[in-house]
Amino acid sequence: MPLSAPVPAPVRAHAVDAHYDLIILGSGSGNSIPGPELEDRSIAIVEKGSFGGTCLNVGCIPTKMYVYAADVALATEQAGRLGLDARVHGVDWQGIVSRVFAQRIDPIAAGGEAYRRGPETPNIDVYDQHAVFVGERTLRTGQGSEQKTISADQIVIAAGSRPVIPEAIAASGVRYHTNEDIMRLPELPRSLVIVGAGFIAMEFAHVFEALGTKVSIIARSSLLRPLDADLHAPFNRLAAERFTVVAGRDVIGADQDGDGISVRLDDGSSVNGEALLVATGRAPNGDQLDLDAAGIATTPDGRVEVDRFGRSTSAPGVWALGDVSSPFMLKHVANAEMRAVRHNLLHPDDLRPMPHEHVPSAVFTHPQIATVGMTEQQARAAGHDVTTKLQKYGDVAYGWAMEDTTGLVKLIADRPTGRLLGAHFMGPQASTLIQQLITVMAFDLDVREVATQQYWIHPALPEVTENALLGLDFS
Ligand SMILES: Cc1cc2nc3c(=O)[nH]c(=O)nc-3n(C[C@H](O)[C@H](O)[C@H](O)COP(=O)(O)OP(=O)(O)OC[C@H]3O[C@@H](n4cnc5c(N)ncnc54)[C@H](O)[C@@H]3O)c2cc1C
Repeated sequence: MPLSAPVPAPVRAHAVDAHYDLIILGSGSGNSIPGPELEDRSIAIVEKGSFGGTCLNVGCIPTKMYVYAADVALATEQAGRLGLDARVHGVDWQGIVSRVFAQRIDPIAAGGEAYRRGPETPNIDVYDQHAVFVGERTLRTGQGSEQKTISADQIVIAAGSRPVIPEAIAASGVRYHTNEDIMRLPELPRSLVIVGAGFIAMEFAHVFEALGTKVSIIARSSLLRPLDADLHAPFNRLAAERFTVVAGRDVIGADQDGDGISVRLDDGSSVNGEALLVATGRAPNGDQLDLDAAGIATTPDGRVEVDRFGRSTSAPGVWALGDVSSPFMLKHVANAEMRAVRHNLLHPDDLRPMPHEHVPSAVFTHPQIATVGMTEQQARAAGHDVTTKLQKYGDVAYGWAMEDTTGLVKLIADRPTGRLLGAHFMGPQASTLIQQLITVMAFDLDVREVATQQYWIHPALPEVTENALLGLDFS
């Protein structure tokens, strides 16, 4: 049975081995599209790598499993301030790698693929070769060594993104790592040079330093540049206490010798380490799909161009979601886009827009960071009459319990309306604490009432949020 979305007459410039109702290119967020509502449709899933995509295999989930170990190690080393004599006596790196991958991630990826290939989803075929478009809604891919050309009434491109490698490093020929392999190193390196200053760089810097590696970071400007200025400055100060930070420099080359890697900078200096991690941003994978062959337009920054419902702006019957097309490279956004596209495939007369309002994000470094909405600088530039509050964790009772001296909450609200414009947390449990304020923004609540019309458990950590809200001046 065809999908109900209207489909143009198929163009058959190529001999086609199989035709489907739906092809899904990429098994990250795309793999969640097939469900009970699509049981009667013929579906192909094309995945050249590990099933489950970036988040499961080399992104959000394994990194956070390492971050948790790092958090515990750091808390142990800092336990003296609580009156505890505790130390980390050793790090079983191979044990950590095995806990994350052999025991958790790899079986899930293998199980996900087996499920899609197995008898429980008889309407789904899986192809495992790199796919490219060879015509309108037609792909060349394959299974094993056998090449196939497949077409469909509808195609969802969910092909994700990949690490960008600066030319100076790529051309140098040195051995470097990215998020795709750094977590499976055979041994914990004694020292690590990280090129990059975004969230991936900061998470790995925290992980490796907490586990005992000496970390040097090379940043083109500063660390986590887009943060609100009131978090940006203290974060950079704290980072400099743990890492060797070389800020404001560009990499011009790299050399390798027996002892490791030497990264050359534009001021003539160099930074050395046993291993090199490149975390300088990610590029959407559309440029590897021969999109022109199918008339699929891209944005100037290389994303598959879609309208607000996820439809290609140029190729009927083609949809895109997640990192390959989204302005947000975040898993919760890719998942939300997937739900919108799935709905739109099934209900073409009742299209749902991609949900791009109040998108939060977290950086699982140390201190942890979470933000939603505008920075103060953005709110003022947008012309809002703002009231702001900077609240220290250390001013509430649970902050005393933790002996926290660096945690901060920054709130920005619209003075005339009482609406929250932005919330920024830096400190323990930031990614959990912020959820209340995501709710405030999603449901358009008046923060004057949010502060006073509910109980705040005493003496729990959310009292830091309560105090921040109460500190906003609406007079
Ligand atoms: C280190 C790291 C940490 C992260 N941490 C977080 C976090 O904490 N929170 C968060 O929200 N986000 C995080 N992200 C971002 C998040 O992982 C991505 O936004 C999300 O996984 C994107 O999902 P997707 O479905 O768009 O793409 P993917 O999950 O990347 O899926 C795309 C799939 O398509 C396949 N593919 C691509 N091209 C082809 C082709 N031509 N033929 C066949 N198959 C193809 C790929 O192999 C891949 O499996 C992190 C990312 C990284 C790298």
